[in-house]
Amino acid sequence: MTDLTELGVAAIRDGVAAGSFTAVEVATAFNANVAAAQAALNAFIVATPDKALDAAAKTDKARAANKPLGKLGGVPIGMKDLFATAGTQTTAASHILEGFIPPYESTVSQKLWDAGAGMLGKLNLDQFAMGSSNETSYFGNVVSPWRRNDGGNASLAPGGSSGGSSSAVSARLCPAATGTDTGGSIRQPAAFTGISGIKPTYGRCSRWGIVAFASSLDQAGPMARDVRDCAIMLEAMAGFDAKDSTSLDMAVPAWEAGLSPDMRGKKVGIPREYRMDGMDADVAKSWDDGIAWLKDAGAEVVDINLPHTRYALPAYYIIAPAEASSNLARYDGVRYGLRDLPEGAGLQDMYAATRAAGFGAEVKRRILIGTYVLSAGFYDAYYTQAQKVRALIARDFEQAFQQCDVILAPTAPSAAFALGDKTADPLSMYLNDVFAVPASLAGLPAMSVPAGLNREGLPLGLQIIGRPFDEQGVLNAGLAIESRAGFTAKPERWW
Ligand code: GLN
Repeated sequence: MTDLTELGVAAIRDGVAAGSFTAVEVATAFNANVAAAQAALNAFIVATPDKALDAAAKTDKARAANKPLGKLGGVPIGMKDLFATAGTQTTAASHILEGFIPPYESTVSQKLWDAGAGMLGKLNLDQFAMGSSNETSYFGNVVSPWRRNDGGNASLAPGGSSGGSSSAVSARLCPAATGTDTGGSIRQPAAFTGISGIKPTYGRCSRWGIVAFASSLDQAGPMARDVRDCAIMLEAMAGFDAKDSTSLDMAVPAWEAGLSPDMRGKKVGIPREYRMDGMDADVAKSWDDGIAWLKDAGAEVVDINLPHTRYALPAYYIIAPAEASSNLARYDGVRYGLRDLPEGAGLQDMYAATRAAGFGAEVKRRILIGTYVLSAGFYDAYYTQAQKVRALIARDFEQAFQQCDVILAPTAPSAAFALGDKTADPLSMYLNDVFAVPASLAGLPAMSVPAGLNREGLPLGLQIIGRPFDEQGVLNAGLAIESRAGFTAKPERWW
């Protein structure tokens, strides 16, 4: 029998429906992979094998009774530990939420369960989704299943913040996972691990029940092995939710049915400003490959300008911390998780002690930056200025989309770096987000698909950015690349 963990979402869904194997067999196979990899990869904070089996048994029962199966009937998935899951610990990879068991379910996870998916576990991430390498997790970093082809055993970063998701999907611990993307956290880890991931238009997926980082940027999306699987997952995750005031009140398109790699009549924009001085030669080459593949698919390629690109990263690292400092004020030792109450201490001391013990260094750094840029004396100089820059970046894209239908760029400036490489210098870590944050600031749908391997044998991703609400255009350009890139590489199992 084929190894069921080699199958993706569509193959599992179709195989279960056809009776080629049972959902319980699938869940059992993935549960075994999760357990076997945990010590080496640390991709999960909590494994929930029984939840995966329960959902699978329900699907098998429904099939036996000739009842219709859900869109994800029989598909077990990983859930980023930023989504509140009723009855299962939800930590955002922080100490301050350790032991927090939500009494409610996030809208997105509920939709996935309603579609028949089962939960393999809660996936590790950067603490409060702040980071690009998964090294800020309180529960230890995730290790990428990939290694360089130099014979060395250097442990590589799986990207962040959805690094548990990327590591787990590429190591065949789950066929798909949820991610969230505030400034690249779906796309960059997908690129680092040779998988696909899409951040939809801001508002497509409800933020209700997702631990908030920067509310005007946070957006959930799927990570999976290919474009079709992303489309299937996104269809299940998206949709209007009255409980999120920024939720889009629009019907969810049939993205899977609309998939087509035919790019004839489409224009692809190549932003001049993304071709930066000293760009990694392999990244530049993969970008050129992507251009050639899209031309081959029938697209016309045009040069475009996004003149304010170089201000995007500084603006993001003002706006995101500002919103974070406000969102994280709720963790005070009173309502959730950790409480640190020193002998004879008063309320203020309790707040301070709880936060000092409960937040990691990067989270504290963001809160300090955020409160600084929002303080009376500096608000106009930093926060207002950054908001103006954000508007200009959105306008750059609006103007560019008068000349093209989608934009093609690298996802990240490099392939995966080694763990520990960038932890000493936060700026060098932030710089890794340079190609990802503009689309986040503009709220646009953007996807990363694998483009090939660099000279070290590590995956590189290509990013497609689309017009608001045009996930279909993004997915289709992704499919055109996927069908030409012929990316079949996967990490060799060493764990
Ligand atoms: N790496 C970025 C940050 O640290 C983005 C994180 C994210 O998208 N959640 O803020």
